[in-house]
Amino acid sequence: MDYIPIANAHGYSPEICSYLTSDIGAYLKGETPLTQAFGMQGIPKPDILLYNTNQCRDVYDWMSYYSREFKVPVYGINTPRTQFQIRDDVVKACAAQLEAIVPALEKISGKPFDIDQFREILASSHECTRLWEAVLDMTMTVPSPATFFDHCIHMGPAVVMRGRKEATDYYRILLEETKERTDNGVSAIQEEKHRFYWDGMPIWGKLRNLSETFSNLKSCVLVSSYCNSWVFSAFDPKDPFRSMAEAYCSIFISQDDTYKENYIADKVERFSIDGIVYHDSKCCGTNTNTRYGMPDRLKERLGIPYLVINGDLNDLRCYSEEQTTTNIEAFVEQLEESS
Ligand code: SF4
Repeated sequence: MDYIPIANAHGYSPEICSYLTSDIGAYLKGETPLTQAFGMQGIPKPDILLYNTNQCRDVYDWMSYYSREFKVPVYGINTPRTQFQIRDDVVKACAAQLEAIVPALEKISGKPFDIDQFREILASSHECTRLWEAVLDMTMTVPSPATFFDHCIHMGPAVVMRGRKEATDYYRILLEETKERTDNGVSAIQEEKHRFYWDGMPIWGKLRNLSETFSNLKSCVLVSSYCNSWVFSAFDPKDPFRSMAEAYCSIFISQDDTYKENYIADKVERFSIDGIVYHDSKCCGTNTNTRYGMPDRLKERLGIPYLVINGDLNDLRCYSEEQTTTNIEAFVEQLEESS
């Protein structure tokens, strides 16, 4: 909240990605969390910037800002969005774009590309995916041993460290601990009564408050589209470029509504879900699924209620804690009355 208005004042609209505006605002103010964490005075100057439009165009604008600022090259993978199936020609085109970046990386690093090392890293990323998915799937247990809010924290290594041993070590330990919890009947929510799906972005600045609000109502939010975004089942070290392209073309956010509805319906059934909570995130239309009729279509198809929370991933000027708490309480009350 200290940084978004600074980026807004520099012409970056409050309507666009608030990850972008937080980050660029912090850069403009000359502050970084790296100072407190590692004693660094600023973000390190990049040699090259990379993006993939599989999630949105904002990543292109975001990296382009730093490309202009640091006068370094920016390369991207332009992936089509709103896909109704993972088409072979699209995967081939994205794989070719990935391969085309290699010469630039060789030049900047001064090292020849090592396909064997690439295969090893992809194998490790695949293992990270397998373990993370196993952790997420543990919440099928009734009562659930963990919540979506726990997983928003635990997904960190899968987001930024997949391909490294530290990430796979982390998820091996986490999986073991989660299994131990289910074996011993330890649940995330005391006397779990209701099980919810979360669709859309987390509201990062309100994770604790939301977690406690649902918990006080004996309600467990336990599965989401978001945390599963770092499950890349297609990775295959035998065919590294193609499988990497396929994995990144297949993410939930880049598919069309038919794909997304089938995806959510499958999760609702497998995780014994009683209701869906949608986050309508002010600045992220691409990962908000409330604006083209999906909640009503899924309500009719699945026969379970839904709640829409209005907010934002970072910009808390768009979020009312009081209003949201009242809405969640009313939603749970209606659910109890109808059951
Ligand atoms: S998908 Fe949404 S939250 Fe993610 S970078 Fe794009 S606009 Fe930002």
